[in-house]
This record gives sequence, structure tokens and C-alpha cells, in this order.
Amino acid sequence: MPSRKPTILVSGGGIAGSAFAHWAVRHGFTPTVVERFPDVRSEGFRIEISAGGRRVLEHMGAVDLLDGETGPPPELEFRFGESAAPVRPPGVSVGDETVVGRTALVRALHTLRGPGTEYVFGDSVTGLEETPDGVDVEFENGPARRFDLVVGADGLHSNVRRLVFGGTTADHARYLGTNLAIFSVPDLTGQRDLSSALVKPGRGAVLTTMPARDDLEAVLLHRSAAAPRSLTQDGIKAEMARVFADDGWEVPRILEAMRDAHVHFAPSQQVRMDVWSRGRVVLLGDAAFCPDPMSGMGAVLALKGAMALAGELARAGGDHRAGFFAYEAAMRPHVEHAQSLGGLAVSGVAPRGGALGFQAMRAGVRLLSLVSRLVSYAPRDDEPGFPLARQLPAADRDGGLEAA
Ligand SMILES: Cc1cc2nc3c(=O)[nH]c(=O)nc-3n(C[C@H](O)[C@H](O)[C@H](O)COP(=O)(O)OP(=O)(O)OC[C@H]3O[C@@H](n4cnc5c(N)ncnc54)[C@H](O)[C@@H]3O)c2cc1C
Repeated sequence: MPSRKPTILVSGGGIAGSAFAHWAVRHGFTPTVVERFPDVRSEGFRIEISAGGRRVLEHMGAVDLLDGETGPPPELEFRFGESAAPVRPPGVSVGDETVVGRTALVRALHTLRGPGTEYVFGDSVTGLEETPDGVDVEFENGPARRFDLVVGADGLHSNVRRLVFGGTTADHARYLGTNLAIFSVPDLTGQRDLSSALVKPGRGAVLTTMPARDDLEAVLLHRSAAAPRSLTQDGIKAEMARVFADDGWEVPRILEAMRDAHVHFAPSQQVRMDVWSRGRVVLLGDAAFCPDPMSGMGAVLALKGAMALAGELARAGGDHRAGFFAYEAAMRPHVEHAQSLGGLAVSGVAPRGGALGFQAMRAGVRLLSLVSRLVSYAPRDDEPGFPLARQLPAADRDGGLEAA
């Protein structure tokens, strides 16, 4: 590592960017985070954190900060049509999964920024030019600056990815054929620690309780050949109201509550790239490897990737090419596993019509158990070998982790 602390620009102050900034300071880098929103963008609903993701939060010191904001995943209840009795899939254990609100998580990660971290809100990168010893960066509002490295952690529609790799989101992402709307609704049911789903051919509605919250999270998802063109709040609401217009159960009350709610809309998309870095610029989190919202693994991959990238860069002692290579090698298996869940999970909550789809969904508890695993409410893998001791700052290695 050179005597001067290497400077790293991080585009995006969400989960990946904030977690990376934390680890960067601990490894001796100086991060600057540029976030296009005017403040910490702590919107969003329920995020499920696997055991491996929780281990990263423990190493960051985030678990105490989140005290009272987390809980185990709720029990699951499916209805295959309005008149069917609810079914609770057998054999599903909640394992080590932890549920936390995205708002609480992003705030905690921001609180954990290390000394010397600079946050620039309300700005965005407009130009990146690599020189032999740095990257000259231009901003929408602030003056141009030079950094040693740039991390693009600016989400599914990454600005840095567009500037460095070209193309639009559609050129790097695969649409999996489902659109998802998430919003908060009043406590319609009085249910506690429960996630109830109405499953219909091609669509599904879910109501879920959340830790430390009295309101419920409503999720509406439906199959569609293409992501809707209109991404305005009014457009998304009109589309969901049209698709679910004839459904019973709690759906009419969910649609009524949707009128006044802010809807987080997420078409199910996976980002798949052959490489995650070019020169001195590297992608992280959804920008590089969005696993699809239905996999329930986006936040976990962002947390793991942030730790792995900072750790491997430090280990490479100033050779960013070696650091980026090792980061990619460490993360690829986790990303591939998470991405394999996305399409299957969609089939679980919004089965296709016909004999092989909806009828099969109703057919048996075995499939139910499988589906419930795939929709992210159950343990997904035991995440062997994560984190690696080598990715922790030397002072934190406790010998209990795999040293490879
Ligand atoms: C508003 C919002 C709500 C969400 N709600 C949920 C949810 O309820 N449940 C769930 O499971 N997942 C949700 N997600 C997705 C989930 O948080 C991510 O998939 C995952 O955590 C990956 O994290 P990330 O940091 O890579 O991307 P993100 O969490 O998407 O963070 C990217 C950050 O980059 C910023 N950014 C974007 N463009 C620029 C730019 N040009 N310049 C600077 N900054 C930029 C964004 O404002 C954001 O803060 C939500 C994401 C967002 C942005």
C-alpha cells in the first residue's frame, strides 16, 4: 500500500456504497461517496438478511445499532384462490434469517461511516476519464476531481456502468417477466409475525408484518411480457389496479390503500456482466450483479461484495487489477447461486396458468415447501467460506474464519 491513502470515489450511497465506504476506511483508503439524492436515501421495506449477510453486519458493528429493528422472518401462509383454506408449508424452518427494514439498514450503514469519509449529496458523476495514475471525474454540480479508483455502487440503473461499459440497463439486465409493486398499507388484518399470500394464475398478492412496525408491507406481483412503459406512480398504480381488479381476499382493501401510498416498483431483472471492472473503475452491488428482487438476495450480495472488494483491494497492496480480480473470483459463486433463485421464485408466487403452472402449485405440500424456500422466506444456503479471514482488516481476524 502506498504511503498516501488511496482515494476512492463511490457513486451511490445505498447499501453497497455505504457498506463499502465503511470497510474502505478500515482498510486504509479514503472514500468519497456521491449520492444523487439530497440526503441519505433510506426508503424501502422489508429486506431479508441471510446468515452470511448477518455475519458481515456483525463484523461492521451494525447489529447493536439495529437492536429493536430486526426480527425473524414471519410464518408463511398461502391461499391458492380466494375460497381455498390457507396452507402453511410444512418443514420450513426460519433458520438464521433476519428481517430488517431497508430504511433502518441504510441509516445504520451511514452511521457506521469511518473517520475521513466524505458524503456528497445531491450530485452525480457526468464524466470519467482514466489517466495512467488516476481517474478524472466530472460532476453535475461540484467541481471536477481526481481519484485513484472509482466504485459504481449506484444500483440497477447504474450511471457509472453506463459511462464506462456503455448501453442502457436493458443491455446488461435480463427481464424475468414479472413486475413487483411494494408499498405500505395500514394494519388491515391484525395479523402478527405472518406473511399471507393469495396466489392466482400469473399473479400474487402478499401481506406481511415487519419488525418494529405496526403497518403492513403489501406486495403485488404479476407476470407481464414486458416491464410497463410508464414508471410514474400513477402509471404503476393504474396497471396494478387493472391486473388485480377482479380479485378477492384482502386485495380490494390493498388496492384502496395503494391510492395514497408511495409505491416502490421493481420489475424482476438480473444484471449479468462478463466482467465487473474496467481499468480503475469497478462495479458493486445491483450495478454489477442485481440478482432480481424476487431472489431476496440483493442486500446480502451488496453487503458481501462491499466487504470482499475493500478486503481484496487492501490485500493486493495497491495493485487494483489484482484486487478487482480477487473480488470478482470471491463473489461470482455467491452471485450465481443468488441469480439461480430469481426465476424460480417468480414461478412460486405468480405461477403460470395451465396444468403445469397453477394446478401444479396447488398439488402438493412438497412443492409448497420448495416454493417457500425459493421466495426468500427460508434459508437459501449455508454460504460456506464467507466471509474469508483475508477480507477482514488484520486487527479483526479471529482465526475462526476460513483463511483461504
Ligand atoms: C428507494 C429504494 C427502495 C428499495 N426497496 C426495497 C425493498 O423494499 N425491499 C428490497 O428487498 N429491496 C429494496 N430495494 C433494493 C435493494 O435495496 C437493493 O437491491 C440492494 O440492497 C442492492 O443495494 P445497492 O446499494 O447495490 O443498490 P441500491 O440500494 O439501489 O442503492 C443505489 C444507490 O445509488 C443511488 N444512485 C442512483 N443513481 C445515482 C447516480 N447517478 N449518482 C449517485 N447516486 C446514485 C441511489 O439513489 C441509491 O441510494 C430498494 C432500493 C431502492 C433504491
